[in-house]
Formats: sequence, structure tokens, C-alpha cells
Amino acid sequence: MAHKSGRHFLQIPGPSNVPDRVLRAIDMPTMDHRGPDFGKLGRIVLEGCQRVFQTSGPVVIFPGSGTGAWEAAIVNTLSAGDRVVMVETGQFASLWHAMAKRLKLDVDLIPGDWRHGVDAAVIEEKLRADTTHAIKAVMVVHNETSTGVTSRIPPVREALDRAGHPALLMVDTISSLGSVDYKHEAWGVDVTIACSQKGLMLPPGLGFNAISQKALEAGKTSGMPRSYWDWQEMLAPNATGFFPYTPSTNLLYGLREALAMLEEEGLDNVFARHIRHAAATRAALQAWGLENLCLDPRDYSPVLTAVMMPDGHDADTLRQVVLDKYDMSLGTGLGKVKGKVFRIGHLGDFNDLMLMGTIAGVEMGLHAAGVPHRQAGVAAAMDVLAGRRTVGQAAKAA
Ligand SMILES: *Cc1c(COP(=O)(O)O)cnc(C)c1O
Repeated sequence: MAHKSGRHFLQIPGPSNVPDRVLRAIDMPTMDHRGPDFGKLGRIVLEGCQRVFQTSGPVVIFPGSGTGAWEAAIVNTLSAGDRVVMVETGQFASLWHAMAKRLKLDVDLIPGDWRHGVDAAVIEEKLRADTTHAIKAVMVVHNETSTGVTSRIPPVREALDRAGHPALLMVDTISSLGSVDYKHEAWGVDVTIACSQKGLMLPPGLGFNAISQKALEAGKTSGMPRSYWDWQEMLAPNATGFFPYTPSTNLLYGLREALAMLEEEGLDNVFARHIRHAAATRAALQAWGLENLCLDPRDYSPVLTAVMMPDGHDADTLRQVVLDKYDMSLGTGLGKVKGKVFRIGHLGDFNDLMLMGTIAGVEMGLHAAGVPHRQAGVAAAMDVLAGRRTVGQAAKAA
């Protein structure tokens, strides 16, 4: 590959840019994971995770991807044949659904149009109709990375409570944790699933579960076979900061640094920054005259924006032009929106000038690829960042 000068722009919605501080932290000799120093590192990262998930309960860290953490959530709490409710918010919800079926769950999938978040009223209806409590879990994706739609979780909790239903609530925060406000404990979530390579600003390789007491209890009677993913195997050595098998030692050095960075900036400031960058991005879309895939302003994602292409124009052709000419990777359309949308990631280690570089790259790419648009997106985004213009930030600020 020919050398390209300057920095590559990695503007896919995960893996996200890894900050230099994290790269430097990972660049260490590998340590003895059974030695005394490791226990201290383990304790620091496990406690730091509790603050980011906003829980006082246990968080476990697997060497694995987000997909592994999805599986861990299921096999630690449910049994084959259990009925669960899932919502088709997009490609990631569809993949989790496919996994649930392979693990022999009886899934009631609420269909969706990939342009809206979870409708808690539909969930409530299903729970009320389930008088025998056959439904064992409600499983939703917080930030649907394929569509740029963030579902509101508290109304889902309220639906369970209003229906007086004991089902577990499981939430995929794989692309929202560390970018969008999320309260595992206060929102009454039983299992929260996350991974390292999105809001946590790390390379891929860590999967997380935050676990409620009720989910731990459910594990005692759950009939799924499990071994690698078994929470109990993890929790016993975790008490002293150790792991039952070899952890991703160097990624945990990185995690310690990433958690420190989030806390130095302040989680609330991190969340506000993401909301602001998302608003500036939407201002650019509007100025270009392009449509946002997300139709409900209450559910606009602070993490990414999925942009619809005008008819007759292929999103992946545009992405290729942007990559070739400007060395920037944009997210491809996944599943049924392939070719129809591209996704702009604005998450993780990111600031105003990185966003402006991103928006400029898209605008120049639209021009180079011959996609009809108004050349006004850069100016519109700058207006938002400079505070000259506000864009409806809806419920995300609340
Ligand atoms: C990225 C992502 C996943 C999959 O995570 P992997 O680490 O690729 O296994 C699942 N759900 C959501 C919402 C995601 O963004």
C-alpha cells in the first residue's frame, strides 16, 4: 500500500479512534496475570466500570467482542425454550435475534421499520397479555448502530413495572456506553451488554456485562449450558481483581487509561459533547438537503448519523470516493439499508475540528461523486459548533 501522509479519519461508528494516551498505556510488557500487581489493575478497572455503567453491582469483563457479551447475557440467565421479547430496531437487533433463535429461545420479535426506536407501549401490551408470565426477558438495543436511532430505556422499564411483569430487562449498550447517558441501576436494567471499541475508545477485544441481583438469581435456575461465559466463574476471582483464565492484560491497561480520561473530562461533559457533535452533523445533512434515516427527533443518536442517499446514488460508491480521495472511512449501510445509507460516526475520542474535517470530507466527497447536494453543510455545522445556531436537541439533553 502506498504511504498516505497525515492522519487517517476513522469515522465509522466503531471501532472508534483510539486516543494516543490509550495506545501508550497498552504499549507495556505483558504482566503475570496471576501475580500481585495484576490484582490491583483488575480491581481498578472493575470499579471504574461500575462508575461508567452507573451501577453498584458487578460488572464482568470478557476477552471477547460485543457478540460474545450478548451470548453471555443469554446463557447466564435463560433456558432453551424460554419466551423473550425483542424489537427489530435494525441490523444489530436482527443479529441478536438470530443468536437468540440459535440458542433455542422462543422469540417474539416486534417488527420495526429501522427508522424509529423501541415503542414501549407495544412492549407493555405484550407483557399485559402474558398473564402466565411466560415471557422471561425483554431485550432491546439502546443505540442501534446500523440506523443512528437511540431508544429511550426508562419507558421500557416503566412498561415492565406498569404491567407488573417479572421479566428480565436486557439492554445492548455496545455503541452507547461512554457516549450516551446510561444508568444500569437507576433504570432497573438486569443485564447491560457493552464492548471496548466504541464509546470506550479502546481497540476491539473486551466484552462487558453489568449484572443485577435479579439476573444473578435467574442464573441459579437457568438451564443453558455455559462454561467460558459463566458469570460465577468470573465473579469469584474478580473479588480480588483476578480472572479465571488469561484476561486481555494489555487491553486492561488501556481500559484503565480510558476510564481515567472519561472521568477527567467528566461523564456529563462527555455526553454533552456527543449531543453537540450530533446536532452539528444533522445541521450539515439538512443544509446538504439529505435525509436522516432516523425519523423521530427524540431518538436521534448522539453517536452516529445515518445519511440516506438520493435515489439512483449508491452510498458505497460515495464511501469509496471519500476513502480514495480524502483517506476517510465512513460506515457502510448494513443489512437491508446496504447501498442506501452511509453512516458518520461522531463518537469517542473526538473534538470540534475532527468533526469539521469529517463534515468537509463528506461534502467534498458528495461533490466528487456527483451526488446532488447544496454545498452548505460545512458552514451549517460550524454555525452549530460556534453557537450561532441551535438545532433541536430534543429529549437527548434531558
Ligand atoms: C458493534 C455492535 C455489536 C457487535 O459487536 P462486536 O464487537 O462486533 O461483536 C452489537 N450491537 C451493537 C449495537 C453494535 O454497535
